Amino acid sequence: MQFQTPGLQDIVDDFVSSFLKDKRHEWESTKTQHMELFQEASKFGLLGLETDPAHGGLGAPFSDKVKLAELMAQTSFAAAFSIINSQNVAARLRESTAQRHHQMADEIMAGDRVGCTALTEPTAGSDFAAIQTSAKKIDGVWEISGNKAWITNATNAETIILYAQTDPTKGWKGIASFLIDGRKAGFERGESYSLIGGHIIGAGEFSLSSYVASEEDMLAPPGEAFKVAMTSINGARTYVAAMCVGMMKNALELATAYGKERNAFGKPLLTHQGMGWSLSDIYTNIAALEGLVEKSAALIDGKQDAVLAAALAKKMAGDITIPAISACIQAMGANGLRSEHFLGEHLACAKIAAYTDGSTEMMKERISAYL
Ligand SMILES: Cc1cc2nc3c(=O)[nH]c(=O)nc-3n(C[C@H](O)[C@H](O)[C@H](O)COP(=O)(O)OP(=O)(O)OC[C@H]3O[C@@H](n4cnc5c(N)ncnc54)[C@H](O)[C@@H]3O)c2cc1C
Repeated sequence: MQFQTPGLQDIVDDFVSSFLKDKRHEWESTKTQHMELFQEASKFGLLGLETDPAHGGLGAPFSDKVKLAELMAQTSFAAAFSIINSQNVAARLRESTAQRHHQMADEIMAGDRVGCTALTEPTAGSDFAAIQTSAKKIDGVWEISGNKAWITNATNAETIILYAQTDPTKGWKGIASFLIDGRKAGFERGESYSLIGGHIIGAGEFSLSSYVASEEDMLAPPGEAFKVAMTSINGARTYVAAMCVGMMKNALELATAYGKERNAFGKPLLTHQGMGWSLSDIYTNIAALEGLVEKSAALIDGKQDAVLAAALAKKMAGDITIPAISACIQAMGANGLRSEHFLGEHLACAKIAAYTDGSTEMMKERISAYL
């Protein structure tokens, strides 16, 4: 898949080689997300990836986002996911008619604010319709209270697309989405999580206590918000699968280079059949997953139904990525464990990928429902 947006390949290459490659070790060692990630991504225009050029963005199609996700995840899945999540909010706010929302979109693009999307709660993940954060209409404004957990960019986000229940008797039909300003009263940031890896993603939680949102801040009304979330999640599933392709390509490249260089029993490791076959299995799986990703991306760009295609790609990514990265580490012997290769990070992020935007089990639910 080639980039359609002129110059985007060079922008991504430049961002990765001049910045991300150096910074990923330093950041991960501090186990937190740094604002520098967004400030630098802004300089490269990456936070306006899908925003219209008339509003200062690059106006890239969805398939370019997928390609970018794959390329950046070769270096850091967590950084790529964080940047994409923030730019998603900027692009979404530009669709709003409210001038204030446009201003916030500009601030995200400038790297002054970070965006995130909050569905998950401490008591509801896979079962999104069971969220308990409540939104009550009182005197013409919405009063929102509740807790959100496992949110990408929660460490720094101040511009939040948040899902809340307006009427618990209506289930998913009662869920609406709101724009939350983390600088306003009623918003409280919680802890950032200490994980097995992937800290650049800034996963954490926050709570709202009688936070007041105007009618203008309702981005999607009850009945529509759930459908919007379920449609946009197909895009997320597709680029998460692409990011798994990226991590596997990087791991395979490292393992192959090692196998060519390293001699054992009188010849390069890669020429031993056991090693060659193991890596050729991985190469085949990557190619198959790339095909599923491309199909899903094309459907989304064509504004067609991508529910099944996205679920197939994400399920396959969930099944093959960890075994592939693990086999590449194995192929490099003890050297595969060196932190400089970032393969342990890839493993942790492959596990993250198996949850975000719907777990592997939820993908099986989608596919079996289709069958
Ligand atoms: C690093 C990270 C970043 C994230 N970022 C965001 C974000 O930005 N915004 C956001 O809203 N959420 C985010 N999430 C949350 C993610 O969407 C959830 O983790 C995911 O939906 C699964 O929910 P859960 O973790 O609560 O697992 P649970 O729903 O508690 O499920 C536990 C296990 O049971 C399985 N399971 C559940 N139901 C069934 C069933 N019917 N049949 C079989 N198995 C089942 C699940 O697949 C899972 O393996 C993030 C998660 C992580 C790890």
